[in-house]
Amino acid sequence: MGAHTGLPAMQTNPKFIFFTDFDGTITLQDSNDYMTDNIGYGQAKRRQGNLDTLEGRISFRDSFKGMMDSINKPYNECIQYLVDNIKLDPHFTPFFHWCLENNIPVVVLSSGMEPIIQALLAALVGPDAEKLQVIGNNVGARPGKSIDEEGGWELVFHDDSDFGHDKSLTIRPYRELPEDIRPTMFYAGDGVSDLSAAKETDLLFAKKGHDLISYCVRENIPFTVFESWDSILAKTKEIVAGTTSVKEAAREGFEAYKAGDAGLKPVANGAAK
Ligand SMILES: [Mg+2]
Repeated sequence: MGAHTGLPAMQTNPKFIFFTDFDGTITLQDSNDYMTDNIGYGQAKRRQGNLDTLEGRISFRDSFKGMMDSINKPYNECIQYLVDNIKLDPHFTPFFHWCLENNIPVVVLSSGMEPIIQALLAALVGPDAEKLQVIGNNVGARPGKSIDEEGGWELVFHDDSDFGHDKSLTIRPYRELPEDIRPTMFYAGDGVSDLSAAKETDLLFAKKGHDLISYCVRENIPFTVFESWDSILAKTKEIVAGTTSVKEAAREGFEAYKAGDAGLKPVANGAAK
């Protein structure tokens, strides 16, 4: 029985598990980018860091640490700033409620810091937010300071990987479950923080027009394109009902990319076929 596996998302013996990124996937804007652009070292340097990460010139860990180190505002003020400014994809909450009704655990895997994610989810999803499992990076006080003073906090990584939070570490134990209890697994993401998860699930939803699509095309990773949680819900329902297979769905992304429907201009040599 699932409860015997010791894996948190197996407690109800689900047939499906939905893993998802948080920033820019559940939220409309990336909260870490938003802080970096507005109260850190700025948009131009941040965007260059994203591109350098995609091209493998810098690790996500180092790039992201630099972004967070550029923010001096006290942590409690950062949380309030984000609660005031960051909005949820309005289709996420209906998706999440459908998952609750259909025994599909939703697990948030983020490079963001857990206290910020919990605060945003509580403000935007409401009390049911407690039913989401959230695994992210964390925050700690700098020596001799408290997090709620100017320059008082720093990012604390989840693990020692080049990703800072290697999302595959959480997904893989589920993947390795015996065939007869192993659920079908989904992942949704948009950008450079999702590179460690992109290959790990049965179906990857990659956000239209965003960096994760370029990466999947280049690395030949199957995916399907989503625009909002409305399209994720529709596709997930088809798969749960058995009218589409995950394999069929995973072929759609590259076809959409070639047809110019993935929100990015197709590059002639972009297909690592
Ligand atoms: Mg993201």
